[in-house]
Amino acid sequence: MDRAASRSGEIMANMGRALALALVVAVVSWWAMQYAHGPAGLSTLWPASGIVCGVMAVSPRRRWGWYLAAAFLAFIVVNVAHGGFGRTSILLSVADIIDPVIVAWVIAGRVGDFSDLSRIPYISLRAAAATFGACALSAAVAVAGLHGLAGFADFERFVAWMASHVLGMAIFATLAITAALLGRNIFGVPGQRLAFFGEMAVLAATCGLVFGTSYFPFPYIVFLPLLLVTFRRRFAGFALGTSLVAIVAVSTHASGIGPFAYMTQLGDAWRTLVLQGFVASTCVFALPVAIVLTGRAVLVRKLAESEREYRMLADYSRDLVVRFDQNGVRRYISPSAYEMLGWSRDELASMRWDLVHPDDRTHVQQELARLQAQGGSTTILFRVLCKDGRYLWIEANASQVPSADPRVPPDVIYSGRDVTKRVIAEKALRNNERRLRAITANVPAVVLHVDKDERYTFVNAYALRDNSRSESEIIGKRIRDVVSDAIWAEIQPYVHAALHGKEVAFEIVRDVNGKTCHYQSRYVPDIGDDGVVAGFYAVSFDITELKQAQAELLRLVRHDSLTGVANRLRFIERLELAVARSRRSHRPLALLYLDIDHFKRINDTLGHVAGDAVLREFAQRLTRHVRDVDLVARLGGDEFVVVLEQIDSVADAQAVADKLLACLREPIAVGDEHAQISASVGIAFAMDPVDDPETLLQKADTALYEAKRAGRNVWRMAG
Ligand code: GH3
Ligand code: MG
Repeated sequence: MDRAASRSGEIMANMGRALALALVVAVVSWWAMQYAHGPAGLSTLWPASGIVCGVMAVSPRRRWGWYLAAAFLAFIVVNVAHGGFGRTSILLSVADIIDPVIVAWVIAGRVGDFSDLSRIPYISLRAAAATFGACALSAAVAVAGLHGLAGFADFERFVAWMASHVLGMAIFATLAITAALLGRNIFGVPGQRLAFFGEMAVLAATCGLVFGTSYFPFPYIVFLPLLLVTFRRRFAGFALGTSLVAIVAVSTHASGIGPFAYMTQLGDAWRTLVLQGFVASTCVFALPVAIVLTGRAVLVRKLAESEREYRMLADYSRDLVVRFDQNGVRRYISPSAYEMLGWSRDELASMRWDLVHPDDRTHVQQELARLQAQGGSTTILFRVLCKDGRYLWIEANASQVPSADPRVPPDVIYSGRDVTKRVIAEKALRNNERRLRAITANVPAVVLHVDKDERYTFVNAYALRDNSRSESEIIGKRIRDVVSDAIWAEIQPYVHAALHGKEVAFEIVRDVNGKTCHYQSRYVPDIGDDGVVAGFYAVSFDITELKQAQAELLRLVRHDSLTGVANRLRFIERLELAVARSRRSHRPLALLYLDIDHFKRINDTLGHVAGDAVLREFAQRLTRHVRDVDLVARLGGDEFVVVLEQIDSVADAQAVADKLLACLREPIAVGDEHAQISASVGIAFAMDPVDDPETLLQKADTALYEAKRAGRNVWRMAG
């Protein structure tokens, strides 16, 4: 029901529009026939084609049928009324409808582009080509309709018809389209309409003077008010102005007045052609002005839009946006400046160096002077005083904005951001780092920080003490590029473990300036607030002295303090090893058990200190007279043992015993005295499979007892 109602409503509306168009077409066609007729009764100007074409071009295609039917009907009615009912009237009506259909069809696809005024030059060219083609076709149909094939010989009529249709199309299609796009504003926006009508009145008066009289032979004077109205109103001025000129010129000419009517030396047809040429020239003069000015208007509008957008961005920016000229006069200050600093617009209107912190003033002045002299852009960090007495740190990016006028010096525009929090945080960080540096500089340890990319970010003074590298040669470098391949291979697993959040400790040995140094290193992951590992701290202590003390302790535990040779503990360990080796190698092993003869007498006669000296010399002689692989140990008192390895027979062991007894017989110098000593030796010889160490020692001891019993200063073999 509703759909049917809306459909019938649409039909009624279309019918109304079609009737209105039919009325307009009928009126202008009647006018063209009655008041604009040229030679042979043909019109000088045919506005109906342009009006129908313009209306169709800006209308949806579903209405085209209505408009075509209405226009065709109007043409039939007017032609019949003018020339009577007949074949000719029908053919002329067909000729009249041909050109608006073709031109509308060609430009209608571009109808959307009409709103984009910058497309107008292209559309105008397209429309011009279509107009000439379509009007030529219309003229051909018309002259054929009037005179049959013989009509083609009548070139004057063909040209007259075509010219009247081309002019009608150029002027009135433009008028119809402009009217459709602008509506009432074709007469200017409200407030300017009076001026518009005034300008049109001047044009009309000029037209009246030129065409309505017979004594003013300067038709081109009309161009002045026409150009004025086109300059001021662009397409609206062009369309309405040229329409007015054309209607007045053509109407008066048909009545036999105006400058062209009096060119009596020309025939009718030529006079009409000159008139049409004049009307065409008004279009040719005024149209480019309308097009260029419209294009400029589009550019100006776009410029204004983009300037408005940018201004809006600056207005709503949280950053401080300031633009000032070379004298420091502010051309623009964003509202955020007042919020951020608390000063009013007037207080910030001129350059306020007193608001820049005294310590930063020179720096900012130098940077701005450099910018104004050299151009480009720069980033400046400075403090600005707020109204409440605080200073804010501002980081500003300042750039030079060249002026459109080369005589005017460029402005400077800067956008600044409150970076107070960042600057304070950076200062705290620097203080922390300074503190860390001060503490670690006096710690006898290498302290490093390495980031997650394995690059050094901190080294303390101790790490640089050997002067092999400077700090700048280490900071920012990757570990593997700084340390040797061997060290990298050694520490790599610990580096990776630390970067995976694991605390690790290990010992490493380094060669520092040719000295072997021991370090104990600890890698502690540097885990940020977000729980992500940002790197690790490495602390390495030099434990070389500790290592040496440890080694000394170990040595002391296994050595006799008086003589420096191995003690009982070391002897037992070495004997066990020697027994095991002998079992593997199937080579014999001998143990010599020595005891100094009548040692008590040395002590008694020369004193205990001399006794000690004798014991030391005794140990040294033993050590000197055996090979490195053999072991000399003091078991206690005046008892010593020698373990002989790598011997082949009993005779070898006995030969060593002889050699030792001989060397011990040499007098020993003790102060001014000489002590003459001897020793007794018990030899335990073991072939594979050998006895265990205790049995071996027991056997040697027994053999020693035998040697003592045999009168001392001899060796005896264990049984
Ligand atoms: P023998 O021929 O039977 O071995 O007679 P000896 O006098 O050497 O007797 P023995 O081996 O039994 O005595 C060892 C002496 O060595 C006993 C002790 O006074 C002395 N003595 C033990 N330890 C030390 C020492 O560290 N320094 C000194 N000066 N004398 C020591
Ligand atoms: Mg003794």
